[in-house]
Amino acid sequence: MRFLVTAGPTRESIDPVRYISNRSSGKMGYAIAEAALEAGYEVILISGPVNLGPPRRATLVSVSTSDEMFDAVHRHADNSDVCVLCAAVADYKPAKVLPMKTKKRDGNLSLELVPTRDILDSLGHRQNRQFLLVGFAAETNDVEQNAVQKLRAKNCDIMVANDARLGMESDENELLILFRDGEMKKISRASKDFLARELVKSFLEFATKMFDKKNETITEPN
Ligand code: C5P
Repeated sequence: MRFLVTAGPTRESIDPVRYISNRSSGKMGYAIAEAALEAGYEVILISGPVNLGPPRRATLVSVSTSDEMFDAVHRHADNSDVCVLCAAVADYKPAKVLPMKTKKRDGNLSLELVPTRDILDSLGHRQNRQFLLVGFAAETNDVEQNAVQKLRAKNCDIMVANDARLGMESDENELLILFRDGEMKKISRASKDFLARELVKSFLEFATKMFDKKNETITEPN
């Protein structure tokens, strides 16, 4: 059984020396990759730029932009059984990347931004999807309500919601796990390593339930 995990931020270039990005350390995604490896599963980790050593034994695919992450995820998703999209992908990118460094001048500067492609949404709406799809929702308010809405809109199986102010660039987090059948699980404040192990257990339990319904078996690790 193979996990695909996305982690970290993306960088959307403005010119050769500037970019737009998100405040993401990548710690949650890296912890999930580590927990899945510990549990005996294979892991492909598709990561934006972070200051973390990759887990040994994970296959690391390093990307920078949301377009590179989109392509890498689509290349590997069909060979995976569980896709966990934990990356803080930029929602917008500059309409064009300038070939030269923009010079500083007097007055304001406007930047035209266009939406990036939503990777989670694109996997959720894929025909005949064979893998379990997990999304993350970092919210600052109405956490549960926003996460339920995202789970439905992006058609994923599990949405893991957290308070962005608590979890961002931190070693700890507090999570609410929402399942597509309406079930819900709360895990109070704990280290990201502990949370990752609990998440991997929950993903596997739910995957077994889903796959059993289709009379397919998930292979247990050795
Ligand atoms: O809509 P929002 O960005 O809050 O959704 C967060 C979830 O969607 C995360 O799982 C994130 O990895 C994923 N996402 C994505 N591609 C984007 C934006 C978000 O996969 N362009």
